[in-house]
Amino acid sequence: MKGQCFSRRRFLKSAAKGAAIAPFIPLVQVASAQDLPQLGESEPTAVALGYKHDATQTAAPESRTCANCMLYSGVPDAAWGPCQIFPGKVVAAAGWCSAWAARP
Ligand code: SF4
Repeated sequence: MKGQCFSRRRFLKSAAKGAAIAPFIPLVQVASAQDLPQLGESEPTAVALGYKHDATQTAAPESRTCANCMLYSGVPDAAWGPCQIFPGKVVAAAGWCSAWAARP
């Protein structure tokens, strides 16, 4: 019984620590994304995939932008964010490339 109480106390302490730092995790992600350089439209991989900062300048259907692509991990309302296709760079939320994939 004493062991269970100790175990529960440890769990509650760990949960409290997690809850305490959780609000700061998105800030860390924003800060690191802001530090990344923007993908250039003329970079070879961007050209190969037809990437543009402005999706309206592409043949993409109107509703498809980086902001609603499964491979995009920018925070909501951010103008730029990371994309799995272009590691180490950020892409425009309003952009698009031919690797666009629907979110499940
Ligand atoms: Fe944008 Fe998706 Fe292409 Fe990345 S893969 S550049 S998020 S459309």
